[in-house]
Amino acid sequence: MILLGSTGSIGVNTLKLAKKFALHVETLVAGKNIDLLNKQIEEFHPKYVCVSEKDSKNRVKHDRVFVGAEGILEVISRSQSDLVVNALVGFAGLAPSIKTQELGKKLALANKESLVVAGNLLDTDKIIPIDSEHFGLKYLLNGRKVTSMTITASGGSFRDTPLEKLSLMSVTQALNHPNWSMGKKITIDSATMTNKIFELLEAKWLYGCQNLDAIIETKSIIHAFVNFIDGSTTAHFANADMQLPISFALKGNIEEEILPHVNLLEVGNLEFREIQEARYPMWELREDILKNPQLGVVLNAANEISVAKFLNNEINILDIAKINKKAYRYFESVRPVNLDDIFEIDKEVRKFSKGDL
Ligand code: NDP
Repeated sequence: MILLGSTGSIGVNTLKLAKKFALHVETLVAGKNIDLLNKQIEEFHPKYVCVSEKDSKNRVKHDRVFVGAEGILEVISRSQSDLVVNALVGFAGLAPSIKTQELGKKLALANKESLVVAGNLLDTDKIIPIDSEHFGLKYLLNGRKVTSMTITASGGSFRDTPLEKLSLMSVTQALNHPNWSMGKKITIDSATMTNKIFELLEAKWLYGCQNLDAIIETKSIIHAFVNFIDGSTTAHFANADMQLPISFALKGNIEEEILPHVNLLEVGNLEFREIQEARYPMWELREDILKNPQLGVVLNAANEISVAKFLNNEINILDIAKINKKAYRYFESVRPVNLDDIFEIDKEVRKFSKGDL
């Protein structure tokens, strides 16, 4: 396989499973964590490697090292492997997703931002989703007539924080997710509920369902529900571990135990909560963006800037929604039709959200 984002949370899990299933790793793409990348090179002997920074190239213990956004596209083209696992974070994942499909390779997609910003430019029928909710939905779909789909949210790091204290919460507190261990950006996106808005958009592109919603399930044991026309609802239960969706993405089908079953007696009880705008001001955009998915590029760019500001201690957690909504309203008339438009809008929104426009 070609693994983009090998040093991240999904990347590391993917390599564990590549080892378990004895899959060949032809190409590794990483950002700045060269120490971990070197360990991975030693263990998996990839043919090609790519890193994000020119300056770190000579620290990489490999003789075929490519660099930057162009380098990623180059290694995807050069590699023989048919499967690309895109576990990059953010907008940087989009061009590689497009290239993968242009070359007719299989796209196993953790990089949800690709779908959020340019779902209309991807062949969504051919995407294998690496996201627990979308994996859950796929698992549940059985050919019967569906009326609606619901995905679950954990509620993130501040689901129990008194509302008046939200603005005082630190980066360290925000990164302390109650149920999942993930990269920094998605952990912050979970705390603001932006992640769930992204996932609703992802579900819309992947499954074409018009009737989508999300609720909080505090233990992250149920990932998705499907409501069928006959009145039945089915739910996907699995322990909170990305190894399950990744295994299916790597192997196509799984006939061995990946995780222990959920033990309902040990779980004891489940709690469901409504997602409230008072706690998650981003939630206000949910309906509008589902009607106007072309604004995903705007929301994503603003969010990448505001999350970076929060992680840099420049703003508080509630300011993220303020910055994102301001950009969303300012750019609400954009209608991107091709990749050039997407890149142009992304650039403008970033300038606006940084305060440079
Ligand atoms: P991480 O931040 O842990 O990992 C991101 C990876 O991308 C790292 O390997 C990083 O390299 C690399 N990277 C970042 N920017 C660049 C760049 N410009 N060029 C090359 N490599 C780059 O994120 P996660 O693994 O948590 O998430 C990855 C994607 O999967 C996200 O889109 C996320 O929303 C999605 N996802 C994650 C889940 C999870 O459980 N973690 C669940 C569902 C979806 P380095 O660290 O070396 O700098």
